[in-house]
Amino acid sequence: MMMIVTQNTMAVERKKRKLKRIAVLTSGGDAPGMNAAIRAVTRAAIANKLKVVGIRHGYQGMIDGDFISLKAFDVSGILHLGGTVLKTARCMEFMTSEGREKAYQQLKKAEIDAVVVIGGDGSFTGALVMSQEYNMPFVGIPATIDNDMYGTDYTIGYETALNTVVDAVDKIRDTARSHGRIFFVEVMGHEAGLIALNSGIACGAEVIVIPESNEHQQDELHKFLSKGYKNKESSGIVIVAEGEETGGAMKIAEEVRKEHPDLEVRVSILGHIQRGGSPTAKDRINATRMGVAAIDALLDDQKSVMIGIANDHIVQVPFNKAVKLNHNIDTYLLEIQRLMNS
Ligand code: ATP
Repeated sequence: MMMIVTQNTMAVERKKRKLKRIAVLTSGGDAPGMNAAIRAVTRAAIANKLKVVGIRHGYQGMIDGDFISLKAFDVSGILHLGGTVLKTARCMEFMTSEGREKAYQQLKKAEIDAVVVIGGDGSFTGALVMSQEYNMPFVGIPATIDNDMYGTDYTIGYETALNTVVDAVDKIRDTARSHGRIFFVEVMGHEAGLIALNSGIACGAEVIVIPESNEHQQDELHKFLSKGYKNKESSGIVIVAEGEETGGAMKIAEEVRKEHPDLEVRVSILGHIQRGGSPTAKDRINATRMGVAAIDALLDDQKSVMIGIANDHIVQVPFNKAVKLNHNIDTYLLEIQRLMNS
């Protein structure tokens, strides 16, 4: 069950609390806006008289005791930066109980009372497992460019990644139109096609191939090609979400080349540029709101919850729901995209 929460860090009288020192880390894939979240967590905590420790390199840094003290000044000048100043990692050792025992001992040694994890569902699963084993409250802030977390309309980084894709595809469209070519543009999202779906609509893609509706969309591609796409005055953009389910842009383009040798087919794989860059205003604002709400949640004795934004309200979603349930796509958007190309 989601809970709507009013953001009120400074205003509300709080019960006497035992929380003195909190830690913040970034984990899993990096996403633009993570720095804005680190800044918000740090400053909201300090405003509430808490000490803040930054854990570098995600859970690996927790195991290694790679901790730094964070003051308000230490997070100045990072709001607009992509990546994460705390670094991030995927850590196999944390998946073992021995690894988590080491991590807990490090937290205890540093007198850390609670942890804010900025990451995706894997990172929250790790937090949930550890909080079940040890008495350590964790609160999560969803940051992943895929926007595939249940219980929140936004994850930090998605908006920026989407805009990066739109900017790149607009440029590809210029060259595609000049040569009368059809481009297969591969974007990130092997399990969730939200970047593909929404960038496709924003760029006026002729076809969008996503894992959630793969077969159907591949049929749409064949319909589009057999409709007689041979117009040299025109261009074609097919957005393909990466991964096994769709087969990826390279594989689809190869099949199309065989079936339609007359077409000028090109492939562009956008790759890691989608993860980088300065976060958009919306990602910065959402990251700041969620960072403040994470500290609110800890001060209110919440644990094992993810902060989300639903219908523009801050919500708290239990980790066990956030990590298990998928964020569904709105298939009506595919109808809209078809309508635009009919
Ligand atoms: P992204 O969505 O960008 O991939 P993520 O948070 O889902 O981000 P993962 O690589 O899945 O990224 O997870 C990050 C880290 O969380 C893992 O490297 C591991 O240290 C920890 N983790 C993930 N799953 C578990 C688990 N079942 N038990 C303990 N720790 C886990």
